[in-house]
Amino acid sequence: MKKNKNINIDKCSLCGRKESDSNILFKGINGHVCDDCIEKAYQILMEEIKMQERFDTEGLTLLKPVEINKFLNQYVIAQEHAKRVLSVAVYNHYKRLSQRITKNDVEIEKSNIILVGETGTGKTLLAKTIAKMLHIPFAIVDATVLTEAGYVGEDIESLLTRLLQAADYNIEAAERGIVFIDEIDKIARKQGDNPSITRDVSGEGVQQGLLKLLEGSVVNVPPQGGRKHPEQKMIAIDTKNILFICGGAFDGIEKIISNRLNTQVIGYGTHKIKDEIDKNNILQYINPTDLKKYGLIPEIVGRLPVLSHLNPLDREALKQILTEPKNSITKQYVKLFEMDNIKLKFLEEALDFIVDQSIEYKLGARGLRSICESIMLDAMYELPTKNQKTLTIDLNYVQKRINPDIAIKLRNAG
Ligand code: ADP
Repeated sequence: MKKNKNINIDKCSLCGRKESDSNILFKGINGHVCDDCIEKAYQILMEEIKMQERFDTEGLTLLKPVEINKFLNQYVIAQEHAKRVLSVAVYNHYKRLSQRITKNDVEIEKSNIILVGETGTGKTLLAKTIAKMLHIPFAIVDATVLTEAGYVGEDIESLLTRLLQAADYNIEAAERGIVFIDEIDKIARKQGDNPSITRDVSGEGVQQGLLKLLEGSVVNVPPQGGRKHPEQKMIAIDTKNILFICGGAFDGIEKIISNRLNTQVIGYGTHKIKDEIDKNNILQYINPTDLKKYGLIPEIVGRLPVLSHLNPLDREALKQILTEPKNSITKQYVKLFEMDNIKLKFLEEALDFIVDQSIEYKLGARGLRSICESIMLDAMYELPTKNQKTLTIDLNYVQKRINPDIAIKLRNAG
């Protein structure tokens, strides 16, 4: 790779730069390339390789369902059934992706998932944690937005825009990503006697639009989303291998489940079966027919074959959420204070009080964080400038800082 001496004759075949304008002009069989273009090409290549590695599902060593469950356990408290179902569904999904189909092979169908449970019980967290484990692009979309905009088709496609953005516009990675569609119950068809559902025709329209995506089809996606950029060039995305996880609270579905259970258990041995039903947690008996009855169109229900429920979180679970997950709220505060060389400790009595507040004001898991924020504010403000090296959060400390006003504010915010 010697410098070419033919002054002003040779040019870079890529950028047209003359030899006199470049440091080195590399001579090939049919032309030349300047050092500048080589450097740029090298950068692009490295970016590309980095991107491939970031979302490399090909080289993924697929965890077995038990191992997936163990991973979920690090971040999600309780919800054993949902974790088990998700672990198997994700395992099968990635087995399906790694399948090289030959002519007469059995083709494994995609198993999109639907999670039903009260808000703040961990539906989004489960989906997020799965995506974190797999190093794949992940997008959360709210189904209610799709309804409100009116322009059904375009908005539904923009759901994939989010995924494309999460994948840094790496189309191949996006095509193997996960989309979490929250509040799927809000696009249910209106049923006469269900007061919680307010959507009617529009909901069904959105469901029809979603169906196309869930089934697997090539969709033209506006890379910048929305209708603000009509000039943008669409990107074709195949949704065949995208895993869709839907979540919803389905308020009032317990009544539908109860009715079904009551009619099902008529006849011999009725009393025995009825006695076995746990009336405190009717959701655990949910099945696809209940979703149809609630207002999801049969085709959508059919495309969401993996169904699981999430249990309401009890006192014990809430306390565990405060302390146990890998990045639990209290662990995060300990870390924050550690960075200022302050040793922070939470006493059990303080944790119990925080949980009690969250239950009293019906804030659930989501409220734990806001309660802690209001309790920790003073310390986070004052301690970095004080010469204090330890802080113990006891009952007295939290009681002083959570007064009724704060509680009301929290309730309104929750
Ligand atoms: P959902 O999607 O069911 O409405 P989220 O998953 O968004 O609820 O939960 C809200 C927050 O509450 C999470 O970010 C997490 O901090 C906490 N949380 C909820 N459920 C759990 C759980 N089972 N384990 C650990 N944290 C949880």
